[in-house]
Amino acid sequence: QRADAPVLAVRDLRKQFGGLVAVNDLSFAVGRREIVGLIGPNGAGKSTTFDLVTGVTPPTSGDIRYFGEEATGERARVIARRGVARTFQHVRLAAGMSVIENVALGAHLRGHAGAVGAVLRLDRAEEARIFAEAHRQLGRVGLADLADRPAVSLALGQQRIVEIARALCLDPSMLLLDEPAAGLRHREKKQLAALLRQLRDEGLSILLVEHDMDFVMGLTDRLVVMEFGSRLAEGTPEEIRNNPAVLEAYLGG
Ligand code: ADP
Ligand code: MG
Repeated sequence: QRADAPVLAVRDLRKQFGGLVAVNDLSFAVGRREIVGLIGPNGAGKSTTFDLVTGVTPPTSGDIRYFGEEATGERARVIARRGVARTFQHVRLAAGMSVIENVALGAHLRGHAGAVGAVLRLDRAEEARIFAEAHRQLGRVGLADLADRPAVSLALGQQRIVEIARALCLDPSMLLLDEPAAGLRHREKKQLAALLRQLRDEGLSILLVEHDMDFVMGLTDRLVVMEFGSRLAEGTPEEIRNNPAVLEAYLGG
């Protein structure tokens, strides 16, 4: 790792599905302790970009680096172990499990990259370590009181935060969040934004795809705007708000 390298640097990233260019020679970077939003109209290539940088899909060409180290074409699990954790657009909590058990799945995956069913075969010391870590992360996100509740009994906003606690068990340097505010109530969005700022201030870098403009404008340090697979603009929320090309793309001008 190079001390001065960005946490994530993407250069000339390209993904083609047959004749369709979903991501078109895209370049951007995410620095330390920075919250960056990836926005753009439907079909702009945001989700594909997310899948490329998390190793879900290999790029057609281009370059992905974490901390200056090559990660192009690495598998999702390998990228996770390099300190990059993600949540998914749709909540993925195990229905029959409590909140703390769901968080513990994250701590377990850190120890052994493998089957969740192996949780049942852990020795006592390992199990204690995993649950201690899960409780620590649940406390960090402010949901310690809910540890023993069934995960599915929580409000959607709380479930999203449980997923973040689970991701934090990987001890990541970077969090990637896919539409974390989707479907949340106003108050839940404010809580989520406060948590993400707290995590940034604790040293994490965050990249999020988000449709909710008020949420993204109020939260991020910087925005990358995509259109037709390319980078249309990049800048602070203030700069983006006043960018004529962005206004045109969004208002269909
Ligand atoms: P966004 O998330 O910005 O709405 P996507 O990254 O989902 O955009 O999609 C970008 C373009 O790539 C769209 O035209 C979409 O239809 C296409 N696309 C995405 N995934 C696939 C796939 N697996 N196969 C074919 N086309 C795809
Ligand atoms: Mg999408």
